[in-house]
Amino acid sequence: MKKYFFFDMDGTLTPSRQEIKQEMAEMLASLRNKGNITIAISGASREQMLKQLSNSVDYILAQSGSDTPFWQRTFDENNKKEVIDHLQKIKDFLSDQDILGIEEDLLQDRGSQMAFSFLGHNSDLDKKRTFDPKGEFRRSLLEKFPFNSEDLECRIGGTTCLDYTYKDSTKGKNIEKLLKRFGWDKNECIYYGDALFSGGNDETVLGVIDAVEVLHPEDLLVKLKEYK
Ligand SMILES: [Mg+2]
Repeated sequence: MKKYFFFDMDGTLTPSRQEIKQEMAEMLASLRNKGNITIAISGASREQMLKQLSNSVDYILAQSGSDTPFWQRTFDENNKKEVIDHLQKIKDFLSDQDILGIEEDLLQDRGSQMAFSFLGHNSDLDKKRTFDPKGEFRRSLLEKFPFNSEDLECRIGGTTCLDYTYKDSTKGKNIEKLLKRFGWDKNECIYYGDALFSGGNDETVLGVIDAVEVLHPEDLLVKLKEYK
């Protein structure tokens, strides 16, 4: 029996950077009414998560959980420089193609995570959706320009992003810490995410708790029906 329901946010509970739809909020309410615990974990900031999810889940773990006081760790100047240098190589490579959005909207420094959106974090939702649905474009760039860092790793996140986090602060690692801290049984946990593919930011959850790939929020609704 599952009791702890973990969800990625963008592309899983909600469309990218959009508010949760009523049907999804009702589904989560129904899970909670039955005594289940719901947890959203995302690379987004806490403020952004509250905006999108309001009080529809029990726990909000922002920046993939790295904002959680017990294990918060902020990027230092060296870490930031590594990210900026890596991105510069990619930007230079793409400079003759009309891909990147408005410069000011590309990179977000979220403290314990940095997120680079190729189109811009606030760019048009339909464009975001069709940009790189399977992460192939971003994966090919990471193959061409591997991110070599002692402390950090880079993963494909959201619809258009590269997410940089500490190696010990991935979604999977942070879920592990949470389970240990709260004494939750991993067999009672299940995770739903749209980026479980190779290189995706949900992939780090594989092997930590059961994980289910979802295509989009409508698909998640179908997959949760059995628990309703
Ligand atoms: Mg996602």
